[in-house]
Amino acid sequence: MTGTRRTFSALCLALAVSAVATGSPLSVAAARAPTPALVDTPAAFARAMKAARAGDTIVLADGEWRDFQMLVVGQGQAGKPITVTAQTPGGVRMTGQSNLRMAGQYLVVSNLVFIDGHSPTGEVISFRRSRELRATDSRVTGIVVDGFNKPDRREADNWVALYGDHNRFDHSTLVGKTNAGTTLVVVRDEQQGLANHHRIDHNYFGHRPSLGSNGGETMRVGTSHDAASDSFTTVEFNWFERCDGEVEIISNKSGANIYRGNVFFESQGALTLRHGDGNLVEDNVFFGNNVPNTGGIRVINRNQTIRNNYLEGLAGTGFASALTVMYGVPNSPANRYVRVEKARIENNTIINARSIFLGAGMDDERSAAPFDSLLARNLIANTDGRDPVRVLGDMSGVAMSGNVQSPAGKTAKLAGLAPRDVSLSRGAGGLLIPADLDGVGARLDLRIVRKQDTGAAWYPKAVAKVAFNSGRSSAVEPGDDTLTAALAAAGPGDQLVLAPGVYVVNRILTVADTVSIVGPKAATQTATILFNRPTLFELGRGGSLKISRLSISGELAPDSAGNAVIRTAAGAANYRLIIEDCRIANLKVNRAFDVIAATKGTTADEIVLRGVMVDGVSGSVLAAHSETDDLGFYNVEVLEISRSTFTDINGPAIDLYRGGTDESTFGPRIVVSESTFRRVGARLSPPVAIALEGVQNARLTDNRFEEGGGVRFIRTVGAPVFRESGAILAGAPATWTNLTREQVAR
Ligand code: CA
Repeated sequence: MTGTRRTFSALCLALAVSAVATGSPLSVAAARAPTPALVDTPAAFARAMKAARAGDTIVLADGEWRDFQMLVVGQGQAGKPITVTAQTPGGVRMTGQSNLRMAGQYLVVSNLVFIDGHSPTGEVISFRRSRELRATDSRVTGIVVDGFNKPDRREADNWVALYGDHNRFDHSTLVGKTNAGTTLVVVRDEQQGLANHHRIDHNYFGHRPSLGSNGGETMRVGTSHDAASDSFTTVEFNWFERCDGEVEIISNKSGANIYRGNVFFESQGALTLRHGDGNLVEDNVFFGNNVPNTGGIRVINRNQTIRNNYLEGLAGTGFASALTVMYGVPNSPANRYVRVEKARIENNTIINARSIFLGAGMDDERSAAPFDSLLARNLIANTDGRDPVRVLGDMSGVAMSGNVQSPAGKTAKLAGLAPRDVSLSRGAGGLLIPADLDGVGARLDLRIVRKQDTGAAWYPKAVAKVAFNSGRSSAVEPGDDTLTAALAAAGPGDQLVLAPGVYVVNRILTVADTVSIVGPKAATQTATILFNRPTLFELGRGGSLKISRLSISGELAPDSAGNAVIRTAAGAANYRLIIEDCRIANLKVNRAFDVIAATKGTTADEIVLRGVMVDGVSGSVLAAHSETDDLGFYNVEVLEISRSTFTDINGPAIDLYRGGTDESTFGPRIVVSESTFRRVGARLSPPVAIALEGVQNARLTDNRFEEGGGVRFIRTVGAPVFRESGAILAGAPATWTNLTREQVAR
């Protein structure tokens, strides 16, 4: 253990002083309160825990507790819990391979930080010790879990797992989960408890980047197996900020739960009533701020009530529409899609939504329309003039009454959806309020829970990405390994400015921070990088790279197969890679020499190529096809290529693959514009310059394909969108856009 540590007598004094400060008479407080035990080693903690009786408090000394698997086991009493807390809120840092398990009754754990490590088990905080020994009537409060991720992002764990019944998880901050598995889960079955009555409140669920696969839910309550029973869990007054893990922000999979008064801020995905009946969704506020894929509420199953919610600026569509009422499977098993029946969707306000899908997801299997349901007194207003309502199936089983749409929709010729021009003004609570619309839309006194009233008050909530060029700038002179030394010394946000000349790199350059490298501004001057290892840059965990105005040649690279200018190392997740105004050439020494090679298990938030000239490559410009297990993972969320020219590339210039059949992700998304593909993939059979498989959204504009391959777009899952315009084909085949996998032998 390291770090600051106060002595036991100093702690008693501190507690006494705080008792005085809060106005309690010291003598009375001292007489009633059992003595807190200050512990500073795991062994001392275990001894104190064993001796603890109802009403006792165990205090962990401030400092780093490394590789500490904390076991909180005991029998408290109502009003006299056994409490485990930190000497100072946030002063105890659980690092390395640490976790917390609890078993017993009336236990309270508070004010710990899990950071710089990961749990050695499948959970960081668990309300059970084993299958047999669980915690009930217990509380975890004021806990922080920050970036406490498994090294391999495909390896799943749950950060917080609730078992048993009548437990509370509150005022905690959970931020930066990048590996698979839920951020918080309620686990329930016959043994672990079905009637849970948990309360999950006032937590701050911070940024969770896209997982690039199913399994990135921020919260899940139950599983499909036991979804037919009621959990009675209440989720209220939490903030969900940029929870972008997958299409389900919350996946409800049990009955009789309440989602009330939560705020969903710029979160991609939707609160999804996936399985289970009789749930209540009310008083929630969704702010999308027009961020792509921000959604609202998706309705499936029976007896769901969705009322008095406020949804504004949601740009999502499909399963992430502001409101989605699904088609179901006739006589569906619980784990498919139980059809919507007896849903009450009332008094919601939906402003400037891109999409409201009524009767969504209809296909051969999902053929049962919503039934015996009500859509009443909702307000749909679009100051942007858009008509978001799409009726995709038979809505005759949904009674519509008293709804108002402003302005009138083009497609919505629905009785009970009255067109009317409504003026809106922003009220003191921050929500837009309609004038003269009594009884329509969300109640006027709806309030937003304040962000500062959620999470651990003592821990910062803004954990922003490091911006490129936000740190120091340093000059680098040409020569052998001058760049190697400069990069090793660079910190987050730093920029390396290369003077004209030749830079020889004799080691693989590991990028573990956000770093940018730029060449000379003058077009007549060049900074050229040569490298004699199989890879020039390797992006590791936490690494993001931007290179500008550089010339990179592979002429010194070793004569081995599978070289790459830029490669990702295991653990590279949610990285950014930007290449602009660069020239990359001579990647031909052996076969499969790529510009960018994405290693299995790694994922980019974005890869951008702007004004890049690539000439002479035996592999691909972007090889992102390593996820061949077809588990739904993929290597790139967003790919943007513009004003670039690719000449004499053996492989497809872009080779992007996303397998698996789940409908949980928004990506990959790709935009290619104003670029030329000359003699690219010409010797492949059939010739192909851009190979896209399982991509969800592709937009290709004003590209030129000469003397080589064209575009191949293979549809595998979901409802992928492919748009191409302005393509010029000169000696290249036409684009194939409607292929299924069966039609292409890969
Ligand atoms: Ca999911």
